[in-house]
Amino acid sequence: MKAGKTHGYVLTFRCINCGRHEVFADYATDEVEPEDRIRGRIYEVTCYSCGWSGEACGQSAIRISRTDLRPRGARWQSSGS
Ligand SMILES: [Zn+2]
Repeated sequence: MKAGKTHGYVLTFRCINCGRHEVFADYATDEVEPEDRIRGRIYEVTCYSCGWSGEACGQSAIRISRTDLRPRGARWQSSGS
């Protein structure tokens, strides 16, 4: 059984301000979603390089990767719940 949103997607964008690929958006979901649905959303994003923040459409993402949003180390610990 899953509790809470522990998985999701990380989208990488090219920064429109500094041009680096340092703009990331997190999207938390426990479900696997088709890529075109992920791309159909608008994300609030922040550039880790220059600090620019704004909105980016998933269509312009240069990379989408599925990820575990839980902190590292806690992933496989099951001390009984
Ligand atoms: Zn930037």
